[in-house]
Amino acid sequence: MSGNRTFTMIKPDATTAGNTGKILDKIIESGFTIRAMKWTQLSKEDASRFYEVHKERPFYGELVEYMTSGPIVAAILEKENAVEAFRNLIGATDPSKAEEGTIRKMFAKSIAANAVHGSDSDENAAIEGAFFFSSREQA
Ligand code: ATP
Ligand code: MG
Repeated sequence: MSGNRTFTMIKPDATTAGNTGKILDKIIESGFTIRAMKWTQLSKEDASRFYEVHKERPFYGELVEYMTSGPIVAAILEKENAVEAFRNLIGATDPSKAEEGTIRKMFAKSIAANAVHGSDSDENAAIEGAFFFSSREQA
């Protein structure tokens, strides 16, 4: 059975472009409930650790650099079948391949600066949520 929580970040390209409110509206309109949220900034160490699964990939350095280039919004979202529902809402990693109406189609600038993060499994949603929020903050 799939879970009802996922984790998201609004990435630096979107926060600095002033799109945070529009993206949050879209998330809420799509039926997600915000269970925890914070506006913060990742250090190089934070971003390296968060994206450690990608450390062998050629874009890892660029990704860490980019994710520390401005503020991010981290949030835990709730909806039935949350991980898959949210991945459908954000669209493909590469915005040129993302479907019409998805958050990345509307707001992403490039494959690296792609506006939002969405967890890819229930297990990773729990790990990523715990990276930013204590268990009390996730209640
Ligand atoms: P996210 O994990 O952020 O939701 P995703 O699951 O769609 O994105 P991943 O394959 O997990 O995609 O890649 C993580 C992030 O690394 C992407 O969101 C993007 O910011 C960056 N990235 C992925 N592929 C590339 C690439 N070819 N060049 C530059 N950056 C990339
Ligand atoms: Mg991913």
